[in-house]
Amino acid sequence: MTDFEGLVAVVTGGASGIGLATARLLASRGARVACLDLNPQVDEPLRGIRADVSDDDSVRAAIDAVVAEFGRLDVVVNNAGIGAQGDVAANPDDEWRRVWDVNVGGIVRVTRAALPHLRRSPAAAVVNTGSIAAWAGLPQRALYSATKGAVHALTLAMAADHVREGIRVNAVAPGTADTPWVGRLLDSAPDPDAERAALEARQPHGRLVSADEVAGAIAYLASPLSGSTAGTVLAVDGGMHGL
Ligand code: NAD
Repeated sequence: MTDFEGLVAVVTGGASGIGLATARLLASRGARVACLDLNPQVDEPLRGIRADVSDDDSVRAAIDAVVAEFGRLDVVVNNAGIGAQGDVAANPDDEWRRVWDVNVGGIVRVTRAALPHLRRSPAAAVVNTGSIAAWAGLPQRALYSATKGAVHALTLAMAADHVREGIRVNAVAPGTADTPWVGRLLDSAPDPDAERAALEARQPHGRLVSADEVAGAIAYLASPLSGSTAGTVLAVDGGMHGL
């Protein structure tokens, strides 16, 4: 894999799961990485910055802080996201708005604040975290799936808008990944071990996707190795999207 020497990356939701694995991988390849998160506790060399992607002032202050500290911004990984359970009737309007505001609005806000800096980068890339939920028709995930479908559509639109100015935009669509988020869901089940086994059995390759595997796909899309790739959504799901 190419390296990110001299480049600066922002990873939202970078203090846990897929975001943390991505931040560590980019840093191991030479990037200076800021993890924007509600709970920004991360180890060196990562730089944790508190930010709420659903709040525009918070996002602008965080991006300003990154550029003030590191002098540039080259890579944005829009990964922060939250879940929602239930069918279309399960969530009242304020909950729809809250999840939408993080999962979709967060990408808009962070990218908006980052664009002036990305335009100055010779290696600008944005990678959004979508989901298999946008494609698979998962039961009891109506609101979440809708937000991730919007992330995929937004990725295509952003790519079309910005590829001519040298900013590539792509997305990953992970299948069920072994992160603290999924750990919390399993822990809330009556029999977490049985639930995990059932979840693994539903994956085409018989196991959960690892956060490192998603991070690898994000790093590829953020790197010049994918220099002619824009507007794609790369599935990291053991093939589930094709079933
Ligand atoms: P996680 O809960 O382990 O990590 C998410 C991080 O985002 C947390 O550190 C959290 O503090 C942060 N965050 C939440 N709301 C935020 C906000 N408003 N502002 C800033 N930070 C915020 O979750 P994960 O499993 O690593 O998921 C990361 C992304 O991957 C999400 O977008 C999720 O939808 C997507 N995804 C996850 C899976 C999976 O199975 N784990 C599958 C497909 C897609």
